[in-house]
Amino acid sequence: MAASRGELLGLTADELGALMVDWGEKPYHGRQLYGALYRRRQLDTGSMTDLSKSLRQKLASCTIGLPRLIRRQRACDGTDKYLLELTDGEKIECVLIPERKRNTLCISTQAGCPLDCRFCLTAMLGFRRNLNPAEILGQILYVLGDKNLPIGSVGDGSRPALTNLVLMGMGEPLLNLENVLKSLIILADPGGLALSPRRITLSTVGLVPQLRKLAQAPVVPNLAISLSATTDEVRDRLMPINRRYPIDSILQACADYPLKRNQRVTFEYVLMDGVNDSDDDARRLVKLLAHLRSKVNLLPLNPGNANGFRPSSPRRVNRFREILTGKGLPAYLRRPRGMDIYAACGQLHLAAAHSSRTTRTSRLDTNS
Ligand code: SAH
Repeated sequence: MAASRGELLGLTADELGALMVDWGEKPYHGRQLYGALYRRRQLDTGSMTDLSKSLRQKLASCTIGLPRLIRRQRACDGTDKYLLELTDGEKIECVLIPERKRNTLCISTQAGCPLDCRFCLTAMLGFRRNLNPAEILGQILYVLGDKNLPIGSVGDGSRPALTNLVLMGMGEPLLNLENVLKSLIILADPGGLALSPRRITLSTVGLVPQLRKLAQAPVVPNLAISLSATTDEVRDRLMPINRRYPIDSILQACADYPLKRNQRVTFEYVLMDGVNDSDDDARRLVKLLAHLRSKVNLLPLNPGNANGFRPSSPRRVNRFREILTGKGLPAYLRRPRGMDIYAACGQLHLAAAHSSRTTRTSRLDTNS
């Protein structure tokens, strides 16, 4: 077989145009190809009949590398978790979360994660590698194809659509900034996947220099900061990266993050019994966020790791929330989704996704 001419996914319209010129073709074929891939989501170059036959022949030796499905699990609440394999055998997960009026896809940006947040299951995998734009976008294209979903907005009619995207799966998106930014351009491009940046949220532990770069990026998504503590002492212990970028430095970068009308920075706060859930913590949180346009998402700790943390009691969670809202800080309780299949926040861990009765090998055998 002839050597592959390379991967087509993850190239911007301009890059595809430049590729066409390299091949001695007209540059506008780049835009056509881009439209076929992302607007019409034709992932088989043979079906792109608006392109000349000779161009299609050249394209036939390119790759459109969607990830390969290893296993799809459906939770009681309708959440679907996909375990996907990349071309080099690395595995990642993404999660589709249906809600009444929207469908949110949570995607990964790294295989594994180098940050060692003590309460997160993904951390136990260690770091494998960064995903490239083809692999970041490939998760979205795979799930859209699997569910036959269009991309759209709420109220588009009766047909369900993918309405929201969160970069909140495996990995730390800001440690893979260049590839993430490129993916965001294709995602938000009206000629690409056409998802409004207002419907895209990037979740991060808060790496200050990268946050400042994100603020200047061509596509600026909603920002979610995983805070989970109100003192550096506690956050140092829960999230060792805090020693490099302490709470104040993150909040300063958030204050400089460009927000549109009605937009707020979200702070995610994983409540852990006796660790970060006291009344004093709640009051400190209000003070910390007093000068920011912010809201808080409270997440009860999802079980899964061995570090001995326990979720806060429902009473404590409610009390914590009441203190925040009582002082005018919007705070929402995020219901864990897909917990029975280890699809909830901080539970993405590939093979650790226990459906306890089957061994990993047998699952691979039956689902590939
Ligand atoms: N690295 C990024 C994105 C991945 S983590 C970040 O830290 O934001 C996604 C979210 O899951 C974070 O808000 C994190 O605080 C949360 N999380 C991690 N472990 C969790 C657990 N055991 N229970 C509930 N949420 C958890």
